Amino acid sequence: MSTVLETDEHKDLRAAVSALGRRYGRAYLAKVVADGGHPDELWSEAAKLGYLGVNLPEEYGGGGGGIAELSIVLEELGAAGCPLLMMVVSPAICGTVIARFGTPEQKRTWLPGLADGSRTMAFGITEPDAGSNSHRITTTARRDGSDWLLTGRKVFISGVDIADATLIVGRAEDARTGRLKPCLFIVPRDTEGFGRRVIDMELHSAEKQFELTLDDVRLPAEALVGDEDAGLLQLFAGLNPERIMTAAFAIGMGRYALSTAIAYARERTVWKEPIGAHQAVAHPLAQAHIDLELARLMMQKAALLYDAGDDVGAGEAANMAKYAAAEACVKAVDQSVHTLGGNGLTGEFGLASLITASRVARIAPVSREMILNYVSHQTLGLPKSY
Ligand SMILES: Cc1cc2nc3c(=O)[nH]c(=O)nc-3n(C[C@H](O)[C@H](O)[C@H](O)COP(=O)(O)OP(=O)(O)OC[C@H]3O[C@@H](n4cnc5c(N)ncnc54)[C@H](O)[C@@H]3O)c2cc1C
Repeated sequence: MSTVLETDEHKDLRAAVSALGRRYGRAYLAKVVADGGHPDELWSEAAKLGYLGVNLPEEYGGGGGGIAELSIVLEELGAAGCPLLMMVVSPAICGTVIARFGTPEQKRTWLPGLADGSRTMAFGITEPDAGSNSHRITTTARRDGSDWLLTGRKVFISGVDIADATLIVGRAEDARTGRLKPCLFIVPRDTEGFGRRVIDMELHSAEKQFELTLDDVRLPAEALVGDEDAGLLQLFAGLNPERIMTAAFAIGMGRYALSTAIAYARERTVWKEPIGAHQAVAHPLAQAHIDLELARLMMQKAALLYDAGDDVGAGEAANMAKYAAAEACVKAVDQSVHTLGGNGLTGEFGLASLITASRVARIAPVSREMILNYVSHQTLGLPKSY
């Protein structure tokens, strides 16, 4: 990759994270998942090396970089077979929103811990009756004196059990118009009335998904992030990094699967030559590599725009990057599993579980169809059916 696309600092970061990831590797993550644990050792070491807070402001202990750097960290850990899913929510969404819009007190309370990895924050927007249509969320915040009372339900929220708090997207009544406007609240894990139930997912993953119930959860005024009237702006500031990071997650996973398949295809010989010499095996792997490279290019564009402060331009690019990366990942994983024949489905090679894992990137945080809708309407100016 040329220096125009990636600076020497970025290349050095990539190489250093890759070395760390390879030291842990797939075997480490597989053991963590089998033991029902969490990748705490990798999380702590990556944090200590400054990788988890690389995007957060230096005055709060971060690296002073942006989503470009953070996405490199997640991609390289994923390419080594040990991605840290909570990076998508904790430093990328929650850290960004608090750094950009939090009160000075919220910044002091949360950013140093998010930067050094000692604290984690989950993010909850999805609701059972709203799903892709987040305009329909009904989690409602009402004032009670200076406090807030939050009531509602969330679903598929990742890592709530290990996070110190969850950044919950709710709605508060606008005193002037009476309409409900989006607002973000920091809800500590053990707050009274904040219930969680683990969802039985068919995913081979250390991070669990939860259904949440908020039953008149009482929060102090300081729990509201930033400005009550700027909720939508704040929300979008967090959603673009989420999409870029999901792209990084998908590209890392695709690269990991592909590298396993390539190594296998170079060696495995059932006729005269290794199977990789057959073009029916080699070409789909080459295509998968091209698709992953293209997706990464779009991810770099999105990160560049976002870090330069172009939220609107980044919105379109982040959506396209997430779409391209998810599709490239699904195809790379599918082809990699196939390349290994029967071994593609064994626990020893550990690729089959990536079939479900790769689908996550196609569904979350915004589905393939909703991105196609976005591009149809926003970019192409086509009419809307819903
Ligand atoms: C592993 C995992 C982790 C997650 N972690 C989090 C998290 O930490 N925080 C969080 O808030 N959420 C999280 N989510 C939720 C995720 O963002 C949602 O699953 C996603 O937004 C889709 O919502 P839904 O599942 O309700 O699907 P639905 O909205 O019910 O959609 C179902 C299908 O219909 C399609 N569809 C819907 N509307 C349209 C339309 N207008 N046009 C065309 N097609 C349409 C969709 O593309 C999809 O294929 C997670 C999900 C998963 C699977």
